Amino acid sequence: YAKSRGRSRYHLYNEAFRYDQVVKFDYEIALNQCIEREELLLHYQPIFNASRSKVVEVEALLRWNLGHAGLVSPADFIPVAEETGLIVPIGEWVIRQVCRDFPKISEKFGPDVRIAVNISRAQFEEEHFVERLNAIIAEEGLTPAQFDLEVTETLVMRNLEEICATLKRLREQGYMISLDDFGTGYSSLGILAQIPIDKFKIDRSFIVQMNPAVISALLVMARAMDLDVVAEGVEDRDQLLRLVDMGCPSIQGYLICRPMGIEDLPDVGFPDLQSHVV
Ligand code: C2E
Ligand code: MG
Ligand code: MG
Ligand code: MG
Repeated sequence: YAKSRGRSRYHLYNEAFRYDQVVKFDYEIALNQCIEREELLLHYQPIFNASRSKVVEVEALLRWNLGHAGLVSPADFIPVAEETGLIVPIGEWVIRQVCRDFPKISEKFGPDVRIAVNISRAQFEEEHFVERLNAIIAEEGLTPAQFDLEVTETLVMRNLEEICATLKRLREQGYMISLDDFGTGYSSLGILAQIPIDKFKIDRSFIVQMNPAVISALLVMARAMDLDVVAEGVEDRDQLLRLVDMGCPSIQGYLICRPMGIEDLPDVGFPDLQSHVV
């Protein structure tokens, strides 16, 4: 349909715009083939629990390997995958791959480690999302309790009632649910408080600002609501010490460990960090 619609409007576009369209088209074709060409891979980033002094969870972060052109960040291709519906097969590939990597992950971080998986809107809105998810992990021999599903506020707000009902169902089945990028949306706290979650992840922008009043308010709120909290994007020791000082339970970020292939992840424990935390 691009052709038929495009032609009559061709004269409206300048060269640069047309070039973008062509690139975008090629991009979609390439993305369409990424699974069969085995170009997708997962990096993992540990989430460190400060009071228990251990890695309690590992987040799976998708990468698209274009060979000599390098690794493409999900921020660049997830939106296209969402737009084209490709996110559904890609998302299923992620879930299956996480299951297959689980033995190596639990070997490094212990049998109780959970894997956090980012779920996007189009996946969540698929009619049989929950059934497909359950079927895949059962096929691969895992259980819901080994998963933490990360959703964003924007996703939930698209259809608050229906999505909250699905989240409730998932939690009843044993999945943990996290609200990712917490604080970056526009919802009122009253509405956020209604979403059935186990945890929220304070967005990196708040960690960069490091306003103690804001961070402590979030931590107090989490405690009152009996929610776990993760600080995202912790990059330096000063941020870490301040967060630990304010009682932030869990930390994720380059300071602890960058996302990397499962084989490269460091083994249990981060000695020089532990000596600081205690
Ligand atoms: P996110 O879930 O909020 O993930 C955190 C992002 O911050 C990741 O970017 C991670 O690499 C990066 N990060 C971690 N620590 C630090 C730090 O200390 N400093 C800085 N500057 N960044 C840090 P990434 O891997 O590029 O992923 C971007 C987003 O793409 C994710 O944000 C998530 O929303 C989405 N995404 C990633 N994997 C998947 C996936 O398998 N499925 C779906 N649907 N979305 C995914
Ligand atoms: Mg996430
Ligand atoms: Mg996030
Ligand atoms: Mg993010």
